[in-house]
Amino acid sequence: MNDALQVALLLEERPVFHPNTGRPFGEAQTLSPSARAGLEAPRYCQLCGRRMKVQVRPDGWDATCSRHGSVDSAYLGQR
Ligand SMILES: [Zn+2]
Repeated sequence: MNDALQVALLLEERPVFHPNTGRPFGEAQTLSPSARAGLEAPRYCQLCGRRMKVQVRPDGWDATCSRHGSVDSAYLGQR
């Protein structure tokens, strides 16, 4: 199982692509207030910008990039 995405998140590496918009990180982004606060599940892989398969649960979310594996909010200590 590829865990490159989870490792990048755990190490808090600077994203290449914005997880909410899929645009190159550092470009001007238009974010909703909840996304800006980090409350929204990522929609795009921050390593490759691919749209991820995202499942939102009452207690968090998990997201899967077909190339970089899946990540679960429970492992990130996010609420
Ligand atoms: Zn990816």
